[in-house]
Amino acid sequence: MSESSSSSKKLNEARCPICNFRLRSCSNVDRKLIKSQEDIDKVLRLMNKPVEIGDILCAKCNKKLCTQISLEKKQLLSDPEPCISSMCADISERFESTLFISDFSSTTINNQSILADPTYEYTPIVKEMIEMPFSRPIISHCYCFICSSKSDLKDIPIEARLQVFLKRRILVPKRNRCCKQHLMNKWLYEDEIDNIKIVSDKCELELSDMAKFMDLLAPDATSFNFQDKIDKRLMPQCQLYALTGHNWKDIDHLQSLITSMRNTSKRTVIQAIVTFLCKLRTGNANRVIAAFAGLDSERQAQSYIDSVLKSFEDDILPNQFGLQSITRDFIINERTSPVAKKLFDCQNRLMIICDGTYIRHQKSSNNVYQRKSYSGHKKTTLCKPFTICTTDGFVIDIPGPFNANENDASILKNIIGQKNGLSELLQPGDYFVLDRGFRDVVPILKKRGFNVLIPALKGKNKQLTTKESNESRLVTKIRWVVEAVHGVIGQKYKLLHNQFQNKSLPKLATYCRIACFLHNKFGKKFNSDSENMEEIINSMKSSNDVNSLAEMVEQGRWNTKRSLFKTFSSDDALDFPRMSIKELKIFFTGSYQLSQAISYLAEMLKEDGTLSLKFAKESNDILQWEVQSRHINRKKYKCYIKYLPKSNGLSSIVGHCCTCANGNRTVGCCSHVAALIYHLSYGRYLSRIFRPAEALTTLFDFNEEMTVIESDSDND
Ligand SMILES: [Zn+2]
Ligand SMILES: [Zn+2]
Ligand SMILES: [Zn+2]
Repeated sequence: MSESSSSSKKLNEARCPICNFRLRSCSNVDRKLIKSQEDIDKVLRLMNKPVEIGDILCAKCNKKLCTQISLEKKQLLSDPEPCISSMCADISERFESTLFISDFSSTTINNQSILADPTYEYTPIVKEMIEMPFSRPIISHCYCFICSSKSDLKDIPIEARLQVFLKRRILVPKRNRCCKQHLMNKWLYEDEIDNIKIVSDKCELELSDMAKFMDLLAPDATSFNFQDKIDKRLMPQCQLYALTGHNWKDIDHLQSLITSMRNTSKRTVIQAIVTFLCKLRTGNANRVIAAFAGLDSERQAQSYIDSVLKSFEDDILPNQFGLQSITRDFIINERTSPVAKKLFDCQNRLMIICDGTYIRHQKSSNNVYQRKSYSGHKKTTLCKPFTICTTDGFVIDIPGPFNANENDASILKNIIGQKNGLSELLQPGDYFVLDRGFRDVVPILKKRGFNVLIPALKGKNKQLTTKESNESRLVTKIRWVVEAVHGVIGQKYKLLHNQFQNKSLPKLATYCRIACFLHNKFGKKFNSDSENMEEIINSMKSSNDVNSLAEMVEQGRWNTKRSLFKTFSSDDALDFPRMSIKELKIFFTGSYQLSQAISYLAEMLKEDGTLSLKFAKESNDILQWEVQSRHINRKKYKCYIKYLPKSNGLSSIVGHCCTCANGNRTVGCCSHVAALIYHLSYGRYLSRIFRPAEALTTLFDFNEEMTVIESDSDND
């Protein structure tokens, strides 16, 4: 029996430890992976069952668990204990996002937390995974990864996977399947290889799988000398880019800036730079880097890396990065995004976005430090670099890292209190763009004459008013850039994304500054939606601060009167307006909102690909959709859309509202309304089967910056 079929058999035999339900390998949504001692304790406490790390609870049992957690949370809420926030974070925790339909043996499992746990024993489900900077197609066992057909499938043989890798540098996941007709014996037809669609620029390999791959590659490897290839520029751009995140032009430019380093008998400057970038890019241990780069030892890799770090500190960072390397005029004239200029009156004003990010690192044996670096919210040890960037994503400075127990507001207060720092650059009238976490520092900033753009706080109210929600949308339209900077840097420089080694902590600030320098120098400016900008801005500016549909819903008490509506399936609402992608982007006020709508929808569609909808009984032009919150268990929202039947385009949506926090918004709409409009006006016409991964790929043409943005603080 081959290895792959035996492990998938084990997988098929996996059962929920609580109800003994058999977990089949497809559809893992809503399951819960037990991954820490905390999880074990929680299940024991709330469900009275012993479980082990690596166990997976079925969707039903996970739901029960979540209910118990929220009950417990409610009891805690009436009890003034301070440990609530860390518990809430867990309620919406899910085994795997459904953006990509995936087979659970290859989902991301945090190895560090498992390995660090002494109670962990090896189980066949949890395998050691290595992340590699190579592209991959969708992960799919249930349908063909080339053409999505569901019949007559065959597991993809390793020979074919190697063939795809050699031709296109794409790693096909191990248990993927494809139609028999694409295969000729163990090989894929050449033209089928060209048809493979990439959905991610990184992939994960099982350790054993990687060993097999390297074995098969070995005959080629003997004639392959990495260091030689670098010096002679024989390495193809795509391979260089995959390993370092940069091309030869960038690397030559870096070499010209690194003036204090010389070639030695052992290595050239270029070799050291490539090795360093490879470390920063992959975040792999030095022994892996050494093996990759054909070096004799770990120590040799470390010494290359140290020399490059030192040269950055001496030659580049002091005059090419940070506050001392830029002027006010440069930021105002060169690095303020057109969107910011159009939305806000910021002529001759500096507009900066600030946000803290975090880097996970190992536990510290130093108790005082361990206490300061433990985040109750993220439940791990971490420290916080603090990003200050412009509205097009240029990083002005990245002070810190600060301790995990300091919040964004206190960090910013500290930074603007310092004499020769940021204050020097700023003048009264300048703009700070912030998220809600900064609310405590707002009075101080305003007192000093700064403008502060911050999303409105809901406070005790259920919803923001239309005006508040609209203003918040203008803020998030600018603020997302800082999230994108964090996303791009985390994705491109895995060293800062993975758990950081404690022994390198003293160098962490330098690594952060280098990553931001590289991003400023070689990265792209963030100007989202440049082709539709005028239309989007105009639609945002012309929106009304009165949501008349919301008022109708309120006055008629539609939320409570069930009898007003009758149930339909979305297949029936055929008179709903159709819209183009461009119109949807304008309506939602950005492509990011469109991508959110798609991934939201992926979670909300029923198995047969339809939505359950209700029509108002009196008039057939108002739809109601009841939708489950993604974050709060058992919380439901009701969306309403009023439209002109049998007409098309932007003006055919007459009104919309929703009971969620941002539901009254008329600048754009909340994610629930967006998901519904996307589905009815566009998505359902694409294909019988809804494939979110594909919809997203075609939407962005796999454009790096759009796929990395993980969160928008404004979403619910
Ligand atoms: Zn179960
Ligand atoms: Zn096929
Ligand atoms: Zn909503």
